[in-house]
Amino acid sequence: MPASIHFADLTSPRARALLDSGPAPVLLLPVGAVEPHGPHAPLGTDSIISTAICERAAIALSADSAIRALVLPEIAFGVTRYSAAFTGAITISESTLRAMVVEVCASLRAQGFRHLVIVNSHFEPAQVATLRKAAEEARVGFLDVTRRVVAEQLTPEFQSGAAHAGRYETSLVLATRPELVEAEIMRRLPAYQLNMPEAMAAGHTDFLAMGMDRAYCGDPAEASAAEGDATLGTLTRLLIGLIRERVATEPGS
Ligand SMILES: [Zn+2]
Repeated sequence: MPASIHFADLTSPRARALLDSGPAPVLLLPVGAVEPHGPHAPLGTDSIISTAICERAAIALSADSAIRALVLPEIAFGVTRYSAAFTGAITISESTLRAMVVEVCASLRAQGFRHLVIVNSHFEPAQVATLRKAAEEARVGFLDVTRRVVAEQLTPEFQSGAAHAGRYETSLVLATRPELVEAEIMRRLPAYQLNMPEAMAAGHTDFLAMGMDRAYCGDPAEASAAEGDATLGTLTRLLIGLIRERVATEPGS
């Protein structure tokens, strides 16, 4: 049987064996949201993206003699208040998200799994701030795509701040789960340029107030699997860099 890249696929003895010998185990925790992503992309877009980044990194590292990366079951719910006007938005509180992340990491740490990295693709400010704090508290890594040094390496649309269900995110879903994108609808959507961080800083607290009356911004009609694949390559490279840094700076188990 080929070695799985998913932690929850392992038996307990195989999980134990990760700690006993061989390459340093690194556990990747995908975090997303259940949130409306326009009339064309799935509610689970952010979880799909986070999981895809983790899976690609785990596969890329499967030939590495020093590191064995495994993907944890995702935390599929997030802090999702901006999209509350649209059916399908499921929000949890900051304290619930924090507790989930901190307790999952603490549980693994107590067993000897010392290298953990959170990968998030839901960029609502309350979500990102909560995960930053939780990662610090749990002493685990965090691939924070909203940090300037990371964002600079992503697509022009992402950098423009139109980062919800537009060309950037839709391309990532097309590269991962194309069957979930309603392509006919997507191709007819007009572009809506919006700098979300600026709109949020100006005090708008929901999509409708930002003019996102169909729960998207940017230019989803221009999305492509090829762009999504290239972006996934960039995100995977960034994650692998962070994984290597964590393993180098924290002594292995
Ligand atoms: Zn999203």
